[in-house]
Amino acid sequence: MSHRADLHTHSTASDGQLAPAELARYAASEGLRVLALTDHDSTEGVGEALRSAQGSSVVVVPGVELNAQTEHGEAHVLGYFIDHEDRKLARRLGERRSARDRRGELMVRRLSRLGYCLSWSRVLEIAGGGSVGRPHVARALTEAGYVSDVDDAFRRLIRRGGPGYVPTPSLDIAEAVQWVLQAGGLPVLAHPLQIMQSVPSLTKLGLVGLEVYYGGYSAADVSFLARQAGALGLLQTGGSDFHGPAVLATAGLGTVPLPWEHVDRLLEVARQRRLLSA
Ligand SMILES: [Zn+2]
Ligand SMILES: [Zn+2]
Repeated sequence: MSHRADLHTHSTASDGQLAPAELARYAASEGLRVLALTDHDSTEGVGEALRSAQGSSVVVVPGVELNAQTEHGEAHVLGYFIDHEDRKLARRLGERRSARDRRGELMVRRLSRLGYCLSWSRVLEIAGGGSVGRPHVARALTEAGYVSDVDDAFRRLIRRGGPGYVPTPSLDIAEAVQWVLQAGGLPVLAHPLQIMQSVPSLTKLGLVGLEVYYGGYSAADVSFLARQAGALGLLQTGGSDFHGPAVLATAGLGTVPLPWEHVDRLLEVARQRRLLSA
């Protein structure tokens, strides 16, 4: 069967442009069968996405994406089928979001020292109550006329290592994997190409999969990652890292060619662990 899924998306609960309900409706209109909502450091959009998808053809997988540090560089951990109402996870994520907001504020300060004067309250307004991320700063820069669009803002100022960039405060990768496991979820390493050296040790900690299919990965990258996943007995997942229809830097919703057999396998593991009813 050739159903389609997108297992990596962001809503306004973090730095995406669509509200969780809009995202779920958009997924239905694009003919997707499975949509995982994986906001940065937040599960606050999950309930709304689940409610919105009720009675539609889309199955919403509760998820989250955590930035973490490894000895080989920054890594992102996706958590699938987490209990989005888990109190401990909610508290931990709340602390991460405060740290993210402080980081956003530092970035605004750094930019004004460089002559790009932004108002922090405007950045918060653009974030609309979600946790502040670089796309919000990029939109404020665009509004103020300093750059031509969000991509231009990233390229010139706030890309990793750019003059206005401030790193997100780090969470150890082992901790990120633990947080997902303790909230009953399945930890999967997002866009893992640059940090494959960390994968064997993470597998021992409970990592269950690799995001093999990702917007921007070449066929050679995908087959390399698929072989690695096979050798380590890991599941294969995939997603676009969708942030909104107007965000050019990311692939379109559901456009990453994740073979359905891998989605089936993920759902099967979720059923075995009683994270998903039949
Ligand atoms: Zn990521
Ligand atoms: Zn992402």
